[in-house]
Amino acid sequence: AFRKSRKLLLKPLDALKKHFGHGGFLDGQERVIEQIVSGRDGLVVMPTGGGKSLCYQLPAMCFTGVTLVVSPLIALMKDQVDALVAKGIPATLINSTVPWEEQKQRLQGMRTGRWKLVYVAPERFRAESFLRALEGVEVSLFAVDEAHCLSQWGHDFRPDYMRLGKALEKIGRPQCVALTATATPVVREDILQVLGLREPFEVVSGFSRPNLSLTITAVDKKAQKLDRVRAVASAHRTGIVYCATRKKVEEVSETLASWGMRVIAYHGGMSDGEREKAQEIFLSRKADVAVATNAFGMGIDRPDVRFVVHYEIPGSVEAYYQEAGRAGRDGEAAVCELLFNYADTRTQEFFIEGANPGGQAIRDVYRYLMQTADGEHEVHKSIEDITDGAGLKNSMAVSSALATLARSGYIERFDVPGKRMRGTRLRRPEVYPADLAIDEDALSEKERRDRDKLKAMVEMAYSRVCRQQWILEYFGEEEADTCGCCDVCLDGGGEDRPPTEEEHMVVRKALSGVARMSRQTGQGWEGRFGRGKIVLMLLGSRSQDIAAAGLDQLSTYGLLAEKGSGYLNSLFRAMTEGGLLRVEVGEYPLVTLTERGERVMRGSKSYRLAWPSASEAAGVDSA
Ligand code: ADP
Ligand code: ZN
Repeated sequence: AFRKSRKLLLKPLDALKKHFGHGGFLDGQERVIEQIVSGRDGLVVMPTGGGKSLCYQLPAMCFTGVTLVVSPLIALMKDQVDALVAKGIPATLINSTVPWEEQKQRLQGMRTGRWKLVYVAPERFRAESFLRALEGVEVSLFAVDEAHCLSQWGHDFRPDYMRLGKALEKIGRPQCVALTATATPVVREDILQVLGLREPFEVVSGFSRPNLSLTITAVDKKAQKLDRVRAVASAHRTGIVYCATRKKVEEVSETLASWGMRVIAYHGGMSDGEREKAQEIFLSRKADVAVATNAFGMGIDRPDVRFVVHYEIPGSVEAYYQEAGRAGRDGEAAVCELLFNYADTRTQEFFIEGANPGGQAIRDVYRYLMQTADGEHEVHKSIEDITDGAGLKNSMAVSSALATLARSGYIERFDVPGKRMRGTRLRRPEVYPADLAIDEDALSEKERRDRDKLKAMVEMAYSRVCRQQWILEYFGEEEADTCGCCDVCLDGGGEDRPPTEEEHMVVRKALSGVARMSRQTGQGWEGRFGRGKIVLMLLGSRSQDIAAAGLDQLSTYGLLAEKGSGYLNSLFRAMTEGGLLRVEVGEYPLVTLTERGERVMRGSKSYRLAWPSASEAAGVDSA
């Protein structure tokens, strides 16, 4: 898969100075460029503004031949090409705004070596004629920008991107590099697979936000949440409070207003006009606090946001970090606090159910679109209207039904000029709802992925690993360091230490008890019981529940009877926070072993825990 001994026209550092006028590289760029000029396929994940373009523009100048850049947005393409041309770099673009005669000339220019970089819109690859025209062109590098567009589970799926794997094949598999700001593991997998990258390097970098201090606070009462909001907002003044539902936004914003805070509310249930007005008030600093659902944020750029509070747990680590990341855009210190109550995961599960409509809902939506389409097979209606029209209740389910139909090629969504609304075009109007080919397996696959994302978020909330480090590792950034300013890093506590010989035995016994009460699957451990039952079993409780479930028959029954429930409950909390146990999302929180926990159960002593305090160790019951 490597292209050995490639001829370079220039060394990267020389190209940087000669063509781009930068004094050095940004974080991660040099590593990526080294890999690319060595001839490897690769995947580059960097946040927006991280300097992805240079990663392929610079190698383009080092290689003979032309670099093709696939980019989804016509406006973006034009900006990039203009910027390159201004630097004296021969670059051009080919998309639908260019007349066919001109396109042909530009293609011809590729053959004669006139361009170093050519930006191409993905839909060009639909045409065989375009692929044929590429024959005989020396494509030194094929760069796929915004590569998450090829993932059906990304937020911006473009069916044309799916074709790129085949297109690569047809033009003789030139070296290929994919770039995106979406670090989700699932999306990354899709990119590698769809493009068929060969032994690719993967670089994830630039996601750390050292100016953010992340905190997760466990709260069990509503009053506690409001106390935290009040404390954070009074201390830091400007910020965003994210709530999971519209109703909660109304409730919390009213409470804040009643305290005399200058606050706006923002959610998807408000009219376009109301939302624009609220946004304008916040951006022009006539309000200090925005209370909002996740509908708020796209394109909100108020750099002096000093705090972000999550009033409820978000549905994924991706969403959490994106929203938390709206704090401190100016680079100054900012705080992010998530108010965690396990019961709130129910709301997220409800959303997951709404976001994953069954086949019948999809057919209902399609039937309604067919009935209302105009002569052009177009429907100009909002999601809410389609929801009502199709006789459905959950507008979330409708918007994901539309996404599914678009993914399957039955419809196309487009911006309606002059309106903040997307229209729908039937691409295969001859197909009847009953004949829709819907891949029910794919649908449930998506639901499973959504649930996994929520699970990861809950695990993070329970863990006691540095927040920043946990997130960066989740995104695949290697060798992430601890941040020194999250709640975990700041909570040194002093009691956090390796086990004594005796404590180690207790931990191993407790973990064996958990193992007995879990199920082992091909993928690892699956919880079957909550902490309470497991502790009762280890204590040798005579409770009816325990006997009824047959737990008094286990070899671990009563194994830690001398310890007392206060100690064991604290120990379980410490083991969860220390990454030995995992709490799974379900109707009840179920406890099971992590991989690390399994290693410790088998004898590994390399762990540290925040050991229960003396009063807990004495068996004072705190449960
Ligand atoms: P992305 O595509 O990742 O969003 P860009 O490629 O548009 O980011 O780069 C973001 C900004 O950083 C641009 O203004 C670009 O000129 C600048 N930039 C990129 N590389 C360097 C560098 N090595 N030194 C200084 N500025 C850089
Ligand atoms: Zn930290």
